[in-house]
Amino acid sequence: MVEWLVSFFPVLVVAILIFNIYQKKYGEQGIQKRMATFFMAAGVLGLFAVITFLKHKGLPVYYAMIYLVAVVVSFILNRKRAWPYKLKCEVCGQRLGWEDVLFLDGNTHSSCRPVPTESIEEATE
Ligand SMILES: [Zn+2]
Repeated sequence: MVEWLVSFFPVLVVAILIFNIYQKKYGEQGIQKRMATFFMAAGVLGLFAVITFLKHKGLPVYYAMIYLVAVVVSFILNRKRAWPYKLKCEVCGQRLGWEDVLFLDGNTHSSCRPVPTESIEEATE
């Protein structure tokens, strides 16, 4: 069962990294969400490496639970950075569109985002 599940990990890592590359389209506006998917891929790749190492050495695969616990604890301690995806706008509380949820940092509608004060000053001059 575990070996069957682990055989999908490289495909999962590649899928997450393809999604990560697609997130690059949004540049600086989505850097936190892009880093989150990158670390997600690194976590899955690490689990794949640990299980492969354990199988290679003939050790029980459940030793990988130590790695898994470490990843889950690190995820919980860094949850704001590890899972920046929110479904509701932080300003008005309405549901966000998929682009705002998956790609853009801030978790707000474009109409709810505060306008930078520098651009207001430039516009009035
Ligand atoms: Zn809003």
